[in-house]
Amino acid sequence: MTGPLPPAAHLPYAGRRVSLATCHGKERVLARPFHRALGLTVVVARGFDTDRLGTFSGERPRPADAPETCRRKAEAGMAHTGLDLGLASEGSVGPHPALPWLAVNTEWLTFVDRRTGLVITEALMAPRTNFDQRVVAPSEGIDAWLAQVGFPSHGLIARPMGFDSTAAAASGLLFKGIGDPAALATALHRCAAASREGLVLLETDMRAHRNPTRLRVIRTLAFRLVRRIASRCPACGSPGWGLVESLPGLPCAWCGGPTARTRVEILGCAVCDHRQERPRPDRRPTADPGDCPRCNP
Ligand SMILES: [Zn+2]
Ligand SMILES: [Zn+2]
Repeated sequence: MTGPLPPAAHLPYAGRRVSLATCHGKERVLARPFHRALGLTVVVARGFDTDRLGTFSGERPRPADAPETCRRKAEAGMAHTGLDLGLASEGSVGPHPALPWLAVNTEWLTFVDRRTGLVITEALMAPRTNFDQRVVAPSEGIDAWLAQVGFPSHGLIARPMGFDSTAAAASGLLFKGIGDPAALATALHRCAAASREGLVLLETDMRAHRNPTRLRVIRTLAFRLVRRIASRCPACGSPGWGLVESLPGLPCAWCGGPTARTRVEILGCAVCDHRQERPRPDRRPTADPGDCPRCNP
C-alpha cells in the first residue's frame, strides 16, 4: 500500500481540522507538530485581524491576561472558519520573575474544543530573547547593536523619539518589520526628521514572522501542547492530562526548612477534578542552601 498513513484512531482528534487565528505566519511552526502527532490539519483563519485583540508592539493594549486573550482569539478564529476546534498563540516579553534584570519571552498556546468545552493552555518561558531597544541618532554607528539583536534576520521597529506608538502610527511614522539596511536607513532618516531632538527609538520587532528566535520558542511550545492533548486523563479519559501546578517547598540541604524551589508537581485533568502528585523531574531531594531564606537570607 502507498499513500499517507491513516491518522491513528486512538488519537482524540485524528482526521479533524483546527482553526488557527494568526496574521503572523505562526502556521509555519504549528502545522507540522499538530499534523504529525495528532492527525489534525491546521486551517489559518485568513483575513481575520487578531491585532484587534491587542498587539505585541503595543499600539493596542490587550484587554485581558494572556491565556484569556489566547482563548478569545481561538474562539474568534473558530467563528471565522466555522470549525469547532481552535488554536491561538500569544507572547510577551518582560522581566524574569526571579532575575528582574533579565528579559524573558513567555509564550502561550491555547487549544479550544467547542463541542466539549475543553480549553488547554501551555506556557513556556524562554530566557533567550533578542528583545531590546535603544535611542539613536541617524549618524551614530550601531553595527554592534544590530548584530546583537540579530538584524536583518530579525526585524526592527522604528518611531521618532517623543512619539508613542499610537501617535507614530497616526502620522505614518511607525516603521514595522524593517528587514534590510536600506529600509532601516529610510526609517532612521524620516523618524529623525520628525523628532524634535532628531532622535529615533529603535526596537526589536517581536512579531513571530519577523522574529525567528520567538518562532523557535513557539515551535517548542507546539510540541508540548500536542503531547498534552494526546495524553488522556486516567480517571475520565478526556484529552489534555498534564502539569497544572508546581508546589514549592523543596527542603534546604542544610537546615531542612522549605525553600521556594519546586517540591512536587501536580498533574491534572482539563475537564474533571482528578489530580496526581509526582516528584520533580530531576528527582532532587533537597535544595541548594543558597536558595534557602534562612541559610542565605
Ligand atoms: Zn537552610
Ligand atoms: Zn478527567
